[in-house]
This record gives sequence, structure tokens and C-alpha cells, in this order.
Amino acid sequence: MDYQALAELLFPNVTQTAEDLEKRFPPRNLPEGAVITRMAPSPTGFVHLGNLVQGLTSERMAHQSGGILFLRVEDTDAKREVPGAVEVLINTLKHYGIHFDEGATMDGDNGAYGPYRQRQRADIYHVYAKKLVAEGKAYPCFCTEEELSAMREQQEKDKETTGYYGKYAIWRDRPMEDIQAQIDAGKPWVLRFRSTGDISHQFKYNDLVKGELTVTENNVDQVLLKSDGIPTYHFAHAVDDHLMRTTHVVRGDEWLPSLPFHIQLFGALGFKLPKYVHIGPLMKMDGTSKRKLSKRKDPELALTYYKAEGFPVQAVYEYIMTLLNSNYEDWRRANPTAPASAFKFSPKKLNPAGNLFDYAKLSDVSKNEIAKMDAQTVYSLLVEWAEEFDPDFADKLKADPAYAKSILAIGRGGKKPRKDLATWKEAKPYMGFFYDDYLETPVFDPKFDKETVKATLAKFLECYDPDEDSTAWFDKVKAVTVDLGFTTDMKAYKANPDAFPGTVADISTFLRVAVTGKTASPDLYTVMKLLGKDRTIGRIRSAIASLN
Ligand code: GLU
Repeated sequence: MDYQALAELLFPNVTQTAEDLEKRFPPRNLPEGAVITRMAPSPTGFVHLGNLVQGLTSERMAHQSGGILFLRVEDTDAKREVPGAVEVLINTLKHYGIHFDEGATMDGDNGAYGPYRQRQRADIYHVYAKKLVAEGKAYPCFCTEEELSAMREQQEKDKETTGYYGKYAIWRDRPMEDIQAQIDAGKPWVLRFRSTGDISHQFKYNDLVKGELTVTENNVDQVLLKSDGIPTYHFAHAVDDHLMRTTHVVRGDEWLPSLPFHIQLFGALGFKLPKYVHIGPLMKMDGTSKRKLSKRKDPELALTYYKAEGFPVQAVYEYIMTLLNSNYEDWRRANPTAPASAFKFSPKKLNPAGNLFDYAKLSDVSKNEIAKMDAQTVYSLLVEWAEEFDPDFADKLKADPAYAKSILAIGRGGKKPRKDLATWKEAKPYMGFFYDDYLETPVFDPKFDKETVKATLAKFLECYDPDEDSTAWFDKVKAVTVDLGFTTDMKAYKANPDAFPGTVADISTFLRVAVTGKTASPDLYTVMKLLGKDRTIGRIRSAIASLN
């Protein structure tokens, strides 16, 4: 077979050569050890936590080694593409602080190794496709869908491994005349790789996460180009990662079964194999068993979910870091204010089996993050969130920024800051009562009769002096307690609860419910101070009226 002639027949318009491309995309001039890696998502419109795990791993590996991170859009599957998905992807990753040095951006491509969108690289793939054909390493296959399914059925019936290999690879050694006849008849074809692999051969491969793997050679003649001339993932990533001078490929371990073919393909193309970092899936507990997070069942897989809930970006980032490198948490405790980039990230510490996503842990991390922020930061981030997800609340916050900030300043700063909020969504239930429109009607514990509650509130009003300090204020609460026959002596109460109708804690709760509509709130003295004399008195009076 004259492979050169076959190459000309299949790719008459390809005039560039692999050497031309080598010159156009020279090796990058970076110091020894610099990691060049990429995110290569398919624009399906759904950006998930797994993308972030992969993005963050790639980003850390690239930037802490003085290397390069780029964004390549793998848009070869037009059927799966959703309009606007590239923009969603770029914006979301940016929102989470994944900074790309080059690649696809909102305003086209940025960098010398593009185009960075695979559909614009067809001519580049064809150069290598032609080269492989000319070297006898790839060939056209004219099998129809029907023929392939009939073959699969037969293989299943015969209990054979399914696929296009060995004697089933019916186009691999067909004479030129057969091929020519099909081409002349305008029949569609795909380009297949001529595999020289043998499944009785195994070899060792070292994955940066999975460790040493025993890999079985691939014997299937996989598709390189589909009938529209667009490459499969396998072929596209080999060409792209070579020409973009990628040193490390960080990707989901669903690609592990394709690794033998990828190793073979890089070899056939004469490309140096990048190092692979195969990341395990994100899982969650479902009852007592673990399962993979699923797009269909788990809203928390989508990154938009975290934005809508109002998890600060920094919190999600910190949480993912604790998930990926188990020593991150200790490091963070020792370096509470250091930028995350100061931590020495190691792909070797990734759990080969994947990570268990724990919502409660994320909330904890987030509470710590928010507790570390000053009131101004909390205010800005909360307003930004509310503008998108609760505009009415945003208007209230913006109407009097100083008031909102003094509310948000409660318990902030100091050695042990309060940890009230895990998300911005929780802010309204937490502080909404400071705004009259959001104040809920007080509901008092029915265990206490209305007259007692009313008497408490009335007595407090008689002695309330808004100018007093917190000690004097609390002395008054205690005085009211004693007046009503309740006790301030918690020990005595615990020893003999039947001896008292209740304690100072119950009295405080009556006041709290009257003023805030809630049984839990930040420090009541401070709340009254912020609300001011008139509103405090007004609320207590309406509570009394509501009990009549
Ligand atoms: N487009 C592939 C995916 O979304 C990329 C895999 C890779 O990073 O190589 O799964």
C-alpha cells in the first residue's frame, strides 16, 4: 500500500507539515520544573465542583512552579454545546479566582499557542492526521452505523470483547482501490488509528495521583477524526497538549480507561507524553453509603448553587483546599492570614479514591472565613449577593450603610469573633429584625402565662434607660426578674426548678422576643442600642398590645 498516496487522497488540501507547526509553536522558554497545564472543559453550560477541583489543582501546580495555566475550550462535540456556555465557564472560573495566563477569554483568544477553541483548530489536526496516514499509522474506515452495531451484537452473542480490533477491523488493510471506490462514491469515512497493541502485554505507568498502575496495551483501532473531520477528544488532546507544550494533564479519572490508547497515540505521533494527574470523583454520603455526586440528583454539584446560597468565594476555595490537601487545615491554623498561595500544594496528597464532599464542613469553613472579615467587607459582599438574589434586602442595606455596617459589626473583631453566618442567605434570618418590615410578630413561649410576659415587658419599660451601659442595663433586667418572682440564681434553679416560675434567662427571652421577634439574636443590649430608644420602646409596647 502506498500510504503517501493514501494521505494525499484523504487530505489533498493539507499543505502544512508537522515541522511547520513545531516552528510555529516552539517549546516555551521556562525554567526547569515549571508546570505547563490547562483546563480543557467542554462548554456544556454546566460548571461543577469537579471543574473547580481540577482547576484549582492545575492552577496551584502551574503557578507555584512558575509555570503557565491556560484555558482551552473543547468544543468538538457541537451537539452537547449550549449557547453562551463558554462565557458562563469563563465567568464562573474567574469568580472563583482561577486566573489563566492565556487561552480563551471573553474577548477572543489571548496567547501565542492558540487558537484555544478546538473547532478553530481543524487544519492543525489534519496535518497530524495526514502524517499518521502517510506513515501507515491511520486509515479511513467506511463502516456505517448499522454495520458497527451489527458487529457489536455479533460480538456480544459470541461473548467476545466488543470494539473495532483484530479481525473486526475490516477496513484496516483494504486495498487502495476499495478506498478509492468509496471516496469516488462520496461515502463518509472516519479516520482510525492502526493499533499495534497486544492485550496480552502489560506495562507500568506512574500516575501522579494514582501511583504506579499496571496498564494493558490497547488493541482497538480508535477513531481519530469523525466523519465531519472533527477530531475525537483522544486525538485533539494529544495534538493540542503537544503543541501547547503542556507538561501536566490534570483530569478526571473517568479518562483512565483511555490512558493506554493515549500513551500509544502520543508515541505514534512522536510526542513526549505529558505527566497525568488523574483526579478521583467527588462523592457524598447517601444514607450510610458513599456515591458520586450526580448532576441530576445533587444541586450542590453546580457552582451556581454556591453563588446563589451566598458562600463567599474565599470559603469555597478554602474548603476545596482542605479537601485536596489534608495538611492544608493545619497550615491554615498556623498561618491564619497568609494567602493560600503560600501553602505548598502537592498533587501527591490528593486522595486517589476521590474526595468526600461534606456540606457541614464547608459551612464551618465558611463561618470561619466570614468571621475573619471586617464589617465593611461583609457589608460589600452581602450587598453584592443581595443585589442579585434578594433585591429588597439589598435596598434596605443600601438605604443606610452605616446602620447596616454597625449591625454587621456586632461580635466582629477580637480574639473570638462570633460565627453567625455561613452564607449570605443566612444574613436576613439573622439580622432582618433590625428592619421594621422584616420584624416578625412576637410569639412567646406558651409555658408562661400572658400576664407574666406582659408584666415583665411593662416593668422593663418603666425602668429602661437607653443611655445606661450594659452592666446597668443588665442590673435592671435582673431587678425585673426578682420583681416577678423569677430567679437570677441559676444554681439554685437547677437544684430545685419547681421553686421558681423561671429564671433571668426566661425574662431576657421575653424581652428578646418582644424586640427582635426571635428567641435567638445577638447581644440584646447592643441590639437595643442600635435600634434606638424609640423603636425599642415602640416594639415592646406593640408586643404588650399583641398580648391583650
Ligand atoms: N474536555 C474534557 C472533559 O471535559 C477534558 C479532559 C482533559 O482535561 O483532558 O472531560
